[in-house]
Amino acid sequence: MQMEKPRFLPLYKRLMKTYRRKYRYFLTRLETVKPKGIDKIALEADKEVWQETDCLACANCCKTMTPTFTKKDIQRISAHFNQTPEEFTKKWLYKERGSGDMMNKKQPCQFLNLNDNKCSIYEIRPEDCAGFPHHTKKHFTEWVHVYKQNVEYCPATFKLVEMMMERVGKV
Ligand code: SF4
Ligand code: SF4
Repeated sequence: MQMEKPRFLPLYKRLMKTYRRKYRYFLTRLETVKPKGIDKIALEADKEVWQETDCLACANCCKTMTPTFTKKDIQRISAHFNQTPEEFTKKWLYKERGSGDMMNKKQPCQFLNLNDNKCSIYEIRPEDCAGFPHHTKKHFTEWVHVYKQNVEYCPATFKLVEMMMERVGKV
């Protein structure tokens, strides 16, 4: 795994500013056009993305986004802290209006160690965190709405979209 340059997050933010419209347009077109072989292209590109990405040099997802906590996540994590699910929920979470999803009140996440960018509950972290940024879903085009959101925060998703643009071409 390669180390990212220390200042890569500011660089990513500048790149995102430049390419936001282009990348979002490409993703929107993928939803409609659904190019042949897109799932295979995504899987191969994803492998390469992780050879070039060091999440411990980033942690932007844990710093700026919130995972969705399922009931099982809340039960597992609260038990780890000898709390009831209700105590845990009251301390750390809120229910999002509309979706009813349970989200973190705080950003950065209370479980992120800001000194080393490590998750302090890594082994029992929410399922949503374990799957983030959800690149390897079976049907890539059904998850485009998620990538459109994540590309704003996640340099790995940015790289994935960049590689896919090169490989898929104009859509
Ligand atoms: S998943 Fe994306 S946003 Fe999160 S640490 Fe890795 S590269 Fe950064
Ligand atoms: S629980 Fe861990 S992996 Fe999930 S957002 Fe918090 S610090 Fe990041």
